[in-house]
Amino acid sequence: MDKIIIAGAGYAGVVAAREMVKNHQKVTLINAEPYHQLTTWLHEAAGGRNQVDDYKIDLRELFPQHEMELIVDEIVNIDWKNRRVSGSHGVYPYDYALIALGSTPEYFNIEGLSAHSLPLKSLETARVIRRHIEREFMRYDEDRDVTHLRVIVGGAGLTGVEFVGELAEWLPDLCHSLKIEDSKAEIICIEAMPDILPMLPNHLRDLAQRELEAVGVRFMTNSRIVRVGEKALELESGARIDAGTIVWTGGVRAHPLLSDAGFTCDRKGRAKVNQALQSVDDAKVWIAGDCASYDWAGKPLPPTAQLATQMGKQSAINILHAIKNEEQHSFTPKIYGTLASLGPSRGVGAMVGIRTSGRFASLFKELTKVKYLMQIGGVRMVSRKRRAHLLQV
Ligand code: NAD
Repeated sequence: MDKIIIAGAGYAGVVAAREMVKNHQKVTLINAEPYHQLTTWLHEAAGGRNQVDDYKIDLRELFPQHEMELIVDEIVNIDWKNRRVSGSHGVYPYDYALIALGSTPEYFNIEGLSAHSLPLKSLETARVIRRHIEREFMRYDEDRDVTHLRVIVGGAGLTGVEFVGELAEWLPDLCHSLKIEDSKAEIICIEAMPDILPMLPNHLRDLAQRELEAVGVRFMTNSRIVRVGEKALELESGARIDAGTIVWTGGVRAHPLLSDAGFTCDRKGRAKVNQALQSVDDAKVWIAGDCASYDWAGKPLPPTAQLATQMGKQSAINILHAIKNEEQHSFTPKIYGTLASLGPSRGVGAMVGIRTSGRFASLFKELTKVKYLMQIGGVRMVSRKRRAHLLQV
């Protein structure tokens, strides 16, 4: 029987595995952790909403043993010429592979950035950020240095903006619990470009900025971070800002294993795929999500969760077709829009052509969580317990 592996249990990998299971196809899912992390909501975990572990789902809860083989191992090499991937604990040969290993932070070779900033990329980094902020705020009690109470977020894309929205809600609570005057806490979001949230129409960007400024976030646009040291950074203008916490949300690039493996990659390290999501280098390998460079309307699709899930599903369907020697189907992305949360109870965005803001946008965003959980695991995924911990609906 053909051996199929899915490398990575992110959005694309989990949806692909679900499709395989639905079609009674034997498949092996390999992931570094025994859980699926809800990456698009990490800003909530890092920003003090709920418990960090609420944002993970045990892969065995999603796929019971009888449904699917699960290997918990960190993949360290993809040898597509010999059809095998290697992990820290073993070598896994395959006939067909789906590579969906996600992305890593993009540091743009900025001096000191990777060493002295905290990325928001995984459940563990979310935990580190949260603890770091708590520790810095506690240290304020020791020396009364207000630098401990300053949090800088570098990059005002979706991740950075959603994160400062959470901080604006959480930091006053943290101050109260530590008996610190909450006006002393500072949240600064630094953006190189003239605007925040470039994917949204102008008036929604302005609205998001105004709403966040009203709850204490300070935006510094047209300000490029060029150097980062321990608890300080420097802007292109020469200005220096000290801060107890520096979080980096300035962009992502594909998992480095793709370029290491010799796949043809774009400038963000994503492997080029054809219309059927097969690697342009090997038709037995499909690539999905943040790892895939799929040209659409003249440029590669952006690395979003909504596209990763669609690619995961289409890749699985195409692998099933390949096994049966049936024709490959072209992938047609459906881009529904973007919703950005601005804290737990507000948001802005444009979905299916409808522009929305405030409480309604927030509700809309929460509903996307429900939809996703149901897609990967059915109604049981939105159990009373999970709703209580994770969902604001
Ligand atoms: P991004 O690339 O969207 O935004 C990063 C921002 O950082 C940009 O505005 C950029 O100008 C700024 N920046 C870069 N270098 C800088 C510097 N030196 N100084 C100051 N600012 C700098 O990154 P992101 O928000 O991490 O998102 C990455 C991708 O993931 C995007 O495509 C985004 O749409 C997607 N995303 C998707 C979801 C989701 O699917 N729900 C959630 C978050 C992010």
